[in-house]
Amino acid sequence: MSPRPDIKSRGQEVARTIMAVVSPAAESDAASAAARVAFAAEANRLTAALDALVGFATWPDTEETDFPALADAVAEAARSAGSGLAAVLIQDGDAGRQLAPLVARALGTGAILGAADVRVGTDGLTFTKPVYGGWLEEDVKAARGLVPVATLDLAGYEPSETKAAQAEASLADAFLLETAAQGAGAPSTAPRIRHLETLPPDARSVDLVHAKRIITAGMGITDEKLLAAVHELADLLQGSVGATRPVVDEGRLPKERLIGQTGRTVTPELYVALGVSGSPHHVAGVRKADRVLSVNRDVRAPIFQFSDVGYVGDLAEVLPALLEKIKAFRDAPAGGDSRAAGAASAAGAASDPAGGV
Ligand SMILES: Cc1cc2nc3c(=O)[nH]c(=O)nc-3n(C[C@H](O)[C@H](O)[C@H](O)COP(=O)(O)OP(=O)(O)OC[C@H]3O[C@@H](n4cnc5c(N)ncnc54)[C@H](O)[C@@H]3O)c2cc1C
Repeated sequence: MSPRPDIKSRGQEVARTIMAVVSPAAESDAASAAARVAFAAEANRLTAALDALVGFATWPDTEETDFPALADAVAEAARSAGSGLAAVLIQDGDAGRQLAPLVARALGTGAILGAADVRVGTDGLTFTKPVYGGWLEEDVKAARGLVPVATLDLAGYEPSETKAAQAEASLADAFLLETAAQGAGAPSTAPRIRHLETLPPDARSVDLVHAKRIITAGMGITDEKLLAAVHELADLLQGSVGATRPVVDEGRLPKERLIGQTGRTVTPELYVALGVSGSPHHVAGVRKADRVLSVNRDVRAPIFQFSDVGYVGDLAEVLPALLEKIKAFRDAPAGGDSRAAGAASAAGAASDPAGGV
């Protein structure tokens, strides 16, 4: 059993301390492991910038987390830093967003959810939050005398190797917080919040920043019939629809679907570019996609230099054929179940290789 988390006891007395609460490790999930490392690296950066001491904490990875009790444990640990407590930073995510308001309430302060950046100034920490669907940013500070409690959403941030190694060492050193329900004197009453089930986000409406599969319509999607086919493909692959700027400018897809320099920066596992030329302004937002599949009728389209799989062809022919192929794959009796992951790989294999580049 880990000792009671006392973040002051972890080093010499320093003027300021940060408490960094990281979600439990989910070893099977590489994305969440990367998110933990990114969070820890950012907490270390802020600690160095503030010349402060950091106390990392996490909680047991159980099926049901008693968030009110956990928040009390976090608040208690945070209070042990006394007046030097500079901030409580919490890894963003479903758990972090449940936890932060409860911790803030226990500490008599407010919660800042989903900060994408933090600046250190002479007057403390300033958090930057995306607002209006990511089109604008807003600076948020805790009121004078109050300790900020904030979740950090660092999607897409990859620390350098050295910083990642330091972050991993910090994580290995994290306190395991115990809630009252796990320790002696556990209350006999059931927790006030019960976890019933976790619903996956709706791919149609999920913020593109978090989308795992993206099907982007460029100007090669010349009419409404083709645009409907793009939506159908996205549904089949359980993906989200993205757009290039002229498509958004023409009002054919909403501006929160825009990807690129002036739109979203995305990090999907699969990025399907349909009738997208591949201008630097657009590609700037797609560089971190794992796999890129593109269809364009122009063999010299720059998008092909950026693609893992490229197909030269007219979308009016390729797209219906691709849909048909994926549906056949989905409906095939043996080994062709309806899982989108399988369909997604079929998307890569659907086209006649003669058209590949
Ligand atoms: C300051 C600035 C910021 C910008 N920011 C962004 C941004 O964030 N995101 C963004 O996307 N753009 C941005 N742009 C615009 C960008 O420069 C490009 O103009 C835009 O990305 C091109 O979009 P597109 O590929 O859909 O269209 P096009 O460049 O017109 O390309 C259409 C492609 O479709 C192909 N095609 C046409 N018909 C078919 C068919 N039937 N079958 C198959 N292929 C077909 C063509 O061969 C062509 O390659 C910005 C521009 C500026 C100046």
